[in-house]
Amino acid sequence: MEVCTDHLFKVLVIGDKFVGKTSIVLRYVKKSFSPNYKTTLGVDFMLKTIQLDPRTVVRLQFWDIAGQERTRNLSRVFFKEAKGALVVFDASDCNTLESAAQWKRDLDSKVTRDNGQPIPALLLANKCDLLKQRDRDSMAPTLDDFCRDNHFTGWFETSAKEDINIQEVGSFLVDRMITNS
Ligand code: GDP
Ligand code: MG
Repeated sequence: MEVCTDHLFKVLVIGDKFVGKTSIVLRYVKKSFSPNYKTTLGVDFMLKTIQLDPRTVVRLQFWDIAGQERTRNLSRVFFKEAKGALVVFDASDCNTLESAAQWKRDLDSKVTRDNGQPIPALLLANKCDLLKQRDRDSMAPTLDDFCRDNHFTGWFETSAKEDINIQEVGSFLVDRMITNS
């Protein structure tokens, strides 16, 4: 008998306002970039279904915060049962990197895996298209340290606009979540 596996993973997308959270999810889910995407108040939900292999389906349910960035006051419901997270900052605005550490602390205090370990969380240096190559190169060691200090699974430079590393981020996170499941 054919055994089929169907995974449903809730993925949180957090970070300061305007860093590109919604654009990243839209790029990943719909393969499009819309500079005029209007944010709604609360949470935007998007679903992506992936046929990983003939017997494995992965459903990713993105919970993209919209309008609560400034207060950073997210309810427990938002975090409940999350299996992975994307913490996004704007690579051209270092203030948003400082915030990313706070977003990560909040995340780890509100949700863990069953074994008490933090859920896999990737740090995304978005809008990398706005940086000069020199600055992109010099960012790497800083982000390595930042990830270690703040217990991130890893980091990627991304551009929702230029479609850089967006698919890679998805695959990497799916891989980690399946390993944990
Ligand atoms: P959110 O508030 O974090 O959801 O951010 P949005 O996705 O709404 O994006 C905020 C602004 O940044 C919009 O004007 C986007 O068009 C722009 N933006 C998003 N991602 C990128 C990117 O990778 N590169 C550049 N240059 N602009 C981006
Ligand atoms: Mg948004």
